[in-house]
Amino acid sequence: MADVDATHGTGNPPPDVLRAVEEGRASGDGGRTAFDADRPPSADLVSDCVHCGFCLTTCPTYTLWGEEMDSPRGRIHLIGQGLSGEPLSDSMVTHFDNCLGCMACVTACPSGVQYDRLIEDTRAQVERRHDRTGRDRALRTAIFALFPYPRRLRLLRGPLRAYQKSGLQKLVGRTGLLDRLAPTLATLESLAPRLVSVPRPPARVQARGPRRAVVGMLTGCVQSAFFPEVNSATVRVLAAEGCNVLIPSGQGCCGALSVHNGRRAEAQRFARKLIRLFETTGMDYFVVNAAGCGSSLKEYGELLADDPAYASRAAAFAAKVRDLAELLVELGPVAKRHPLPISVAYHDACHLGHAQGITAQPRALLAGIPELTVRPISEPEICCGSAGVWNVLNPVPAAELGDRKASAVLATGAQLLVTANPGCLMQVAAAIRRRGGSIALAHTAQVLDASIRGLGVSALL
Ligand code: SF4
Ligand code: SF4
Repeated sequence: MADVDATHGTGNPPPDVLRAVEEGRASGDGGRTAFDADRPPSADLVSDCVHCGFCLTTCPTYTLWGEEMDSPRGRIHLIGQGLSGEPLSDSMVTHFDNCLGCMACVTACPSGVQYDRLIEDTRAQVERRHDRTGRDRALRTAIFALFPYPRRLRLLRGPLRAYQKSGLQKLVGRTGLLDRLAPTLATLESLAPRLVSVPRPPARVQARGPRRAVVGMLTGCVQSAFFPEVNSATVRVLAAEGCNVLIPSGQGCCGALSVHNGRRAEAQRFARKLIRLFETTGMDYFVVNAAGCGSSLKEYGELLADDPAYASRAAAFAAKVRDLAELLVELGPVAKRHPLPISVAYHDACHLGHAQGITAQPRALLAGIPELTVRPISEPEICCGSAGVWNVLNPVPAAELGDRKASAVLATGAQLLVTANPGCLMQVAAAIRRRGGSIALAHTAQVLDASIRGLGVSALL
């Protein structure tokens, strides 16, 4: 096997690799080469990369380590090596696993390289064909037995609230015992937000004033378990803007975590269930307030393209998906905004900014609130290190990225950090707490809700 790290610093695949990539060789040989014939990454997409390096400085792992094989260009090179017949080595898998899937490279690439497609197909191959260590397998099994199941996550609320209220959390934090004994558990514990109780929204909420649209709404897994107040605010804002909101019970996961981690079959199961639940509701739009979920929901057509029973239904469903900010700007405001004299730092969640190209809409909505000022955060393109469950699987570099983002946020001097993804909220909040700093946090929906209801700044601080 060729040493996959041998080209560090050059990034240029040797000519024989390029030839093989152009030929698009992928194996169906039962495991000797990196990829089998079941949706291997596309050689055409690999050959779109001209190795210019414009993506390097936006890549969080390249920024951390300066390693070519932990850059987008390096990973594309490794995919090319796999397509040329190299086996899937531990080293290759590590470089693929290190990718946060933040898609900053897709935004930065002047050649339009579809790295998102490449890494998704590569990850599905890795999950099927690579033997992970026992510890890694156990951790991933535990994560995927918990996070995509909102009911199981909700069961954690009671014990977690008791732990936070009893003072045990502070005591454990002071001893540092958890960090030493169980770093993964320590990471999960540090990410847990302060829980608040709000009633679950009803299955159907009427528009206030004339109806402008009927929208189905995703309640989500982490969002519904740990940030129910964000869902409540979302419903109120949609109703105030003239939407009938449909929130049928029995919603499961949208499949985002699974598809972003190579668990395609699992993601397809989740997707089929969600489509069945909503497709007969008569909704005009399907609204999502979590960036990671929105980006994968918009790709349902591609996820189920090979399923004859669902391909066209999935494409029709995906065409209705809108991020909350995207939909509100599309509809235009009708509800009166009351002043909120507050300074806000807006953080672009990667799966909103890079994966969905939604950066202007949330800023336009915030700018529409009288007396609110938005302050820019430096290095906005660099991921905060949350990236789905990447921060649980990679706690040390995730904390470094979180600290970097926390510094940039605190340097704005803003009173409130606003973002549109529960993972980012937890990650940046934990990093700010680690530094002994403090800043109030809110989802865009909560800021709009406070303004529309005339609650005043104190509702957000
Ligand atoms: S998705 Fe993010 S972490 Fe992965 S290669 Fe692209 S920029 Fe780097
Ligand atoms: S910017 Fe695009 S073409 Fe240039 S090295 Fe990165 S992925 Fe390849």
